[in-house]
Amino acid sequence: MGVGKPDAGAKAAGTPSRAERSREQDRAAGGHRARFVDTGPGGLKPAGVVLVTSSATGTTRARLRWSSDGRTHQVPLGVVDRRTRAANLREGWRLAREAGLLTEAPDVSDSSWASSAGTRRSMQSNKGKDTGPELRLRSLLHASGLRYRVSARPLPDLRRTADLVFPKDRIAVFVDGCFWHSCPEHGTSPASHSEFWARKLNRTRERDLETNRALKAAGWTVVRVWEHTPGEDAAKVVKEALATKRGQAADLPEGQG
Ligand SMILES: [Zn+2]
Repeated sequence: MGVGKPDAGAKAAGTPSRAERSREQDRAAGGHRARFVDTGPGGLKPAGVVLVTSSATGTTRARLRWSSDGRTHQVPLGVVDRRTRAANLREGWRLAREAGLLTEAPDVSDSSWASSAGTRRSMQSNKGKDTGPELRLRSLLHASGLRYRVSARPLPDLRRTADLVFPKDRIAVFVDGCFWHSCPEHGTSPASHSEFWARKLNRTRERDLETNRALKAAGWTVVRVWEHTPGEDAAKVVKEALATKRGQAADLPEGQG
């Protein structure tokens, strides 16, 4: 059994009715209309956030689940580490929103409902902020006396936000979500609507490479750690990059040319 956060992923006491469960999801998502997944042309499906706590590690992970074509689909959202089920559900919905996965359903009184669905698709995936793995990394680095900017643009002209930025050292750190950035261990393209998902995930991959190239060209070091990387290991990678950069700065005051 998990220890420490016994009710973080637990269901509410008793057996909630379907309506109660739906209200709980509505509350966590910030309204019923905020709970829809765009499954491709013309398809908006209501979704729910599911919390799964590992009995071995006590880690709670959120997934987004919905049904379409008579099948249930699930997408991992990441680790949530709040103290209550309600807060973890909110966090799960926030991750889904930030991943660009959700589309706000138009008001049902709006007759242009279906046709506007595609265009309303929210693709601006604001980079996930304050996710569990990132917070752990931040607290470890902060405890080591390191200071950095959070969710900042390394280059003012480049519309990319890094999770942590060390401006003087020109180091940008990205904590990549396993699903969205196709981690080799947990990144899977959902079997259904595979074309839709493959396109989305490919775009993220290309964008990551583009970001790396642009930053490197401007003399920055890009550090990417997976969401699944233990905080201590992630902190070590960041510290090593800092040490390397600072060593180079000392050895090669003119840079590497
Ligand atoms: Zn992973």
